[in-house]
Amino acid sequence: MRLIMFGAPGSGKGTQADLLCARLGVPSVSTGNILRAAIAAGTEVGAEAEQYVTSGRLVPDEIMLRLITERLAKPDCEKGFILDGYPRTLPQAQALEAAGVEIDAVVSIDTQDADIERRLSGRRVCGGCGKSYHVTYNPPAKEGICDDCGSPVTRRPDDDPQVVASRLRLYHSTTEPLRARYEEMGLLRSVDAGGGIAEIAERVLAALGVR
Ligand code: AMP
Repeated sequence: MRLIMFGAPGSGKGTQADLLCARLGVPSVSTGNILRAAIAAGTEVGAEAEQYVTSGRLVPDEIMLRLITERLAKPDCEKGFILDGYPRTLPQAQALEAAGVEIDAVVSIDTQDADIERRLSGRRVCGGCGKSYHVTYNPPAKEGICDDCGSPVTRRPDDDPQVVASRLRLYHSTTEPLRARYEEMGLLRSVDAGGGIAEIAERVLAALGVR
C-alpha cells in the first residue's frame, strides 16, 4: 500500500502512521524525522534545513524533492510506504505524480486548531528514533526515556506555542488546499481525530478497509 497521512501538525498523523506501518508491514516515511535526524547528524541537508525546521517554516521544495526521491528509492519502500508530512505544497504533490508514484489512499486526520494547541503543548519526541509521546495521553513508561530505544524524550523547539501558531497558519494557507485535490482524485479518506489513539487507529483501518 502507498499511503499519505494528511493533517495539521499535531493531528496525530505521525502516531497513526507508525501504528499503521506495523500493521501493514511497510515503512512510515516521516520527512520531519528525516530532517531532524539530518540536523542532529550535521549533514549538508541538515545544515540547509535547520533554520526552517526550528522556526516552523517549510523547507524549500527543491530540498524536499531531493530528499523524498532518495528515500522512496530505498529497497524497503518497494512494497509500499506511508508518507507522514509529505506532500505539504502543491509542487511536492505534483512531483510525486510526475515521478509516477501511484498513491492508493490519502488518510486525512481532521482536527480543530484549539485541539492542536493542547496536543502540541504536551508533545514530547524521542531524539533517537523520533517516536512521539504526550505527557498526558501517551507518556513513555519511564518519564523522559523512549520505550523503544532508551534515548531521551524532549520537547521539540518548534512545539513552542508561538511557533505552533505560525505552523498552523502555514498549514491552512499552503498544505490544507491539497486536501481538495486528493478529494477530487477520489483518494481522500477522512477520519475524525477525536478520542484516544486506539479509537482513531480503528477509524483509520476502517477508512482503508483493512481488518
Ligand atoms: P513534522 O515533524 O512533520 O511536523 O515536520 C517538522 C518540520 O520539518 C516542519 O515544520 C518543516 O519545517 C519541515 N518539514 C517536514 N516535512 C516537510 C515538507 N514536506 N516540506 C517542507 N518542510 C517540511
